[in-house]
Amino acid sequence: MMWKYYLFLSGISITCQTVLGQANIEQSPIDSKDLMTTVKFLSSERFKGRLPGTVEYEQASRYVATRFKNAGLNPLLGNSMLQEFDEEVNYILDAKVFLIDQNNRPTQPMYLGEDFVCRGFTGSGEVRGETVFAGFGIKTDEYNDYRSIDVRNKIVIVFKSAPPWKPISGSWGDTSPRGKARIAKELGAKAIIIIGEPQMTPNTMVYGSIACGPKPHIVDFPMIHAGSRLTDSLFSKLPFKPAEYYEMIKRDKAPHSIETDKSVYINVRAVYHEAKKTYNVVGYIEGSDPKLKHEYVILGAHLDHVGYQGDRLYFPGANDNASGVAGLIAIANAINKSATKPLRSVVFVVFSSEESGLKGSKHFVANMPFTADKVVAMLNFDCVGQGDSIAIGGKLSYPKLWKKAKKLDHKTTKLLSPRTFGGGGSDAQAFHEVGIPTLYFHTSGGYKFLHQITDKPETLNVLVFEKVVHLGYLTTMELANKNYKREMDRQKRKAS
Ligand SMILES: [Zn+2]
Repeated sequence: MMWKYYLFLSGISITCQTVLGQANIEQSPIDSKDLMTTVKFLSSERFKGRLPGTVEYEQASRYVATRFKNAGLNPLLGNSMLQEFDEEVNYILDAKVFLIDQNNRPTQPMYLGEDFVCRGFTGSGEVRGETVFAGFGIKTDEYNDYRSIDVRNKIVIVFKSAPPWKPISGSWGDTSPRGKARIAKELGAKAIIIIGEPQMTPNTMVYGSIACGPKPHIVDFPMIHAGSRLTDSLFSKLPFKPAEYYEMIKRDKAPHSIETDKSVYINVRAVYHEAKKTYNVVGYIEGSDPKLKHEYVILGAHLDHVGYQGDRLYFPGANDNASGVAGLIAIANAINKSATKPLRSVVFVVFSSEESGLKGSKHFVANMPFTADKVVAMLNFDCVGQGDSIAIGGKLSYPKLWKKAKKLDHKTTKLLSPRTFGGGGSDAQAFHEVGIPTLYFHTSGGYKFLHQITDKPETLNVLVFEKVVHLGYLTTMELANKNYKREMDRQKRKAS
């Protein structure tokens, strides 16, 4: 899951009334041991956070292809299960940050992975300079954080988000990390330090992200994301804390940019490639009915995560989203072992490049070997291993589809939370946009370790994990074998 959806989805963290561990009369066809084995393997150090464009990601995609093959899936596109496309990649080799005094002497070392991380598409460079707090790092005709400060040869500190009020012109411009870095660089700054939104708890968490905004890449401009110790140090001589500046800017709708009287040394070594090969993994089970086999149920989960930085830090991504990939493999195995064969064809897609902007799912949808109207529904699995109950997005757009899952849950898994949202989201978005009904399987209360180095297999809740995947399996079989009349997006219908 991309970090930007976090605030939205974390609002859905309610405790389900259902008691865990209620005895199921029916034996679950999902092998929970195998789910965990897959998650442990994919989140292990050997895959270094599954960054698209790396050898490690390629190995992970080949592993999934083998598991798909062993589960009886066949390639859908040509002879190979790997669907190749180009992706930009940035190998972060090393990063150092120190607080320094007037004489350029280091006073306080900061630790990679604890006090700071690099943004995934950081540039390289060894720079030192005074730091300046520049609010949201926005520069438009109606609002300009740089109006009264000079940032030449300095290092700029900005909030990650856009201002929390609506711009009169309708746009703040490019508020992505790259967009903000571009403005700072044009004004003569040497590097940028991004700090978290104060409304996020904890707001100074260190997390990995490769969602950096549109190209071009800025090769020579370090982009650092500060954790609490670095943020506190940078603001220690100022009269207010970041959260107070945030409120002041919001209240006045005017900048409160200020020199911090603190200097830092930053040294980042990264190697950027504009195009490296990456892969979706696509397999399918052909429907057993000669007519219905030309209709498709698509299951999707992203394999990529946010990679590594230096030689000691990597982001395991156990919940995000080794869990979803393990779920797809388990569902394929369960169908393979089932006595009833699906009448419609079931397509399994493991996506690359979700974290950098949903590129794998967009690429798949743009190159489907059948038209969108042949797809009955798409079920997406993203972050399904943690939390306390099952959650499924999509009800507000596709209520009939959602109710099918609800009914199955009522009979079997008994753990579905009533909280939901509209269609699309994450990799379901591209399918939703071409009129395919979507459900987005995830959990309630499952985003505690999102994009952190602590997103490890031991934080998963195996009971919930097994049940989400079980419900995914039941919903797949229902859609593959029973009638479901495709719905139009209800929210869109209402709006028009
Ligand atoms: Zn993610």
